Amino acid sequence: MGTVSDYFGCLVFDDRVMKANLSADVYQSLRKTIDEGAKLDLSVANAVAAAMKDWAVAGGATHFTHWFQPLTGITAEKHDSFITPAPDGGVIMDFSGKELIKGEPDASSFPSGGLRATFEARGYTAWDPTSYAFIKGKTLCIPTAFCSYGGEALDKKTPLLRSMEALNRQAMRILKLFGNENVKCVRTSVGPEQEYFLIPKELYEKREDLIYTGRTLFGAKPPKGQEMDDHYFGVIKPRVAAYMAELNEELWKLGILAKTEHNEVAPAQHELAPIYTTTNVATDHNQLTMEIMQKIASRHGLVCLLHEKPFAGVNGSGKHNNWSIATDTGVNLLSPGETPYENAQFLLFLCAVIKAVDDYQDLLRIAVATAGNDHRLGANEAPPAVVSIFLGEELQGILDAIENDTPYEAAKKKTMKLGVDVLPRFPRDTTDRNRTSPFAFTGNKFEFRMVGSSNSIACANIMLNAAVAESLKIYADRLEGAEDFPQKLHEMIQKTIKDHKRIIFNGNGYDEAWLEEAARRGLSNYPTTPDCIPHCLDEKNVQMLTAHRVFSLAELKSRCDIQLENYCKTVLIEANTMIDMARKQILPAVQGYTGELAKTVAAKRSVISDIACGYETGLIVKLSTLADQIAARTDALEEAVLGLKHSTDVFQESATIRDTVLGRMAALRAAADEAETVTAEKYWPFPTYGELLFGVH
Ligand code: ADP
Ligand code: MG
Repeated sequence: MGTVSDYFGCLVFDDRVMKANLSADVYQSLRKTIDEGAKLDLSVANAVAAAMKDWAVAGGATHFTHWFQPLTGITAEKHDSFITPAPDGGVIMDFSGKELIKGEPDASSFPSGGLRATFEARGYTAWDPTSYAFIKGKTLCIPTAFCSYGGEALDKKTPLLRSMEALNRQAMRILKLFGNENVKCVRTSVGPEQEYFLIPKELYEKREDLIYTGRTLFGAKPPKGQEMDDHYFGVIKPRVAAYMAELNEELWKLGILAKTEHNEVAPAQHELAPIYTTTNVATDHNQLTMEIMQKIASRHGLVCLLHEKPFAGVNGSGKHNNWSIATDTGVNLLSPGETPYENAQFLLFLCAVIKAVDDYQDLLRIAVATAGNDHRLGANEAPPAVVSIFLGEELQGILDAIENDTPYEAAKKKTMKLGVDVLPRFPRDTTDRNRTSPFAFTGNKFEFRMVGSSNSIACANIMLNAAVAESLKIYADRLEGAEDFPQKLHEMIQKTIKDHKRIIFNGNGYDEAWLEEAARRGLSNYPTTPDCIPHCLDEKNVQMLTAHRVFSLAELKSRCDIQLENYCKTVLIEANTMIDMARKQILPAVQGYTGELAKTVAAKRSVISDIACGYETGLIVKLSTLADQIAARTDALEEAVLGLKHSTDVFQESATIRDTVLGRMAALRAAADEAETVTAEKYWPFPTYGELLFGVH
């Protein structure tokens, strides 16, 4: 294999391949579709399909699939081969424009949250030409959206594309007002940093909890955890380095811009960050990255854990969603510019984000709500469940000056008039980066850090794009008719700062005192998934999301149902796994060791009849007590699970599960973990935290 630049993107039907394999006319029309969303006619689609098929077959592909992202959170594919019978008894490899543009998988086994009751069971997939097709194994994968026959979105890509379009529409109105005549469209870009754990596969296979739930449900603290902070950015171990090298190679072949890799805070935890790209492509790439991370791990005798909280007591994993808005002419609208107009424009976009995050805090929380992420948000190492924005000192100083019409120091003691004066350059703030903020401005982008490591980034970006589109719409409505544009602009920016400054918090987000302060400020705090999801249907949210045509009401309802159903299923699978492990593995282990101790006592006493045996008998008492506790708490957990009445009200059901099951799981775990600390190693039925976290060399 040659150098990286030789093989980068070799499995992608990208612009280079299109240019080389399509006629000039076809290439031009396709480009117009990709860049401007122009409709593609069938003759062009046929030509593209033929070229795509020839290229894929030459690359070893025998099948094609419409690759989509149903609401399961992972990707789906149904493979069809290219073969078509030829009259002479042989086959030809065939692929038509129609097959490229539209597919009809049977949708009935994908979650639809009730949409299926109202609409037909069959769904269709529609090609997203803005995300390049690629070869995976022997299959040409065509990124597609997935909808019901009624046109209701059954996936994550459709609303994402709609939200990007909503933001584009509103941002274009603002840009026109600032005189940006040559801008054709605005797109959001995302660079998702992905955290993960790597553990030895042979140990993983011995743990039912990891196999069934992706996280450990039992496990006493090892003697060493992450307290030394010696793993973060530490030297990468050879086995991990070999994994990362192969992972990079595979990702590069798929045109994924894997850029940085390092060890994270917890032992066995690592991070991979790509170079940012257009949001829907970044979303597709992140899904692929997660899939390939797991696949490559297995080749190295490892397992890649993407769960948000695989181990209690050590840091969980998230995904930092670095987000910005840019024009097709290459201007980042979240980057302060050189001229007064550019700066005023920057401040307006900045304010749009501040307003959006404040007005739709709940939607951002909802976008990242899963049973897994509930264990992470609000734990002392991840952002709290309360949404707030970090701006940094420089920018805060500027906003304060605008809010109060007071001079800004760096502007040489004069009051700035937006759109007239040049703002001082804001240095890109990398020194006092606040790692505890859920939503931090980092110089020319915002970093949303609440996203869970296994979540698709689609949901977070759908809500973010839609909410910012709404702010921009309100601004555009007011500015378009303004007589004195700079004056109106100044007023609006000032008003936004005044009205929404409660969402800005530059302090330590992990501090208990912040939660109290946030409550005083009236910020919402939804610690769990069942707390937040119902607010998705609050009138203001429904109104905003439907007005921008990001979701219909039926789609929103279906998504709430699915998110809560997933929550219920996840917790119940965990509870059942615990019951199984406690009864079949932990209790027998404790019994076995107690039996050995009892035998030792009997053996000793057969030699010296009145020997004390204080150590053994003390331990027998302790283990027996713990065994009783484990057994009783297992029964209690089972009772809670069996006692659940299936209800048609998933809102109610999820809250009940949270209130009755989670507490009993924690109680059972506490007793079992204590038993682990006093049971002889050879009896313990599965690998310990120490082995899992320090087992890769
Ligand atoms: P870190 O946060 O680890 O210091 P960086 O800030 O350099 O690292 O980048 C983190 C991620 O943010 C990367 O994926 C990077 O590509 C992405 N990123 C950088 N600039 C932008 C931007 N303008 N828009 C969106 N993402 C960006
Ligand atoms: Mg970062």
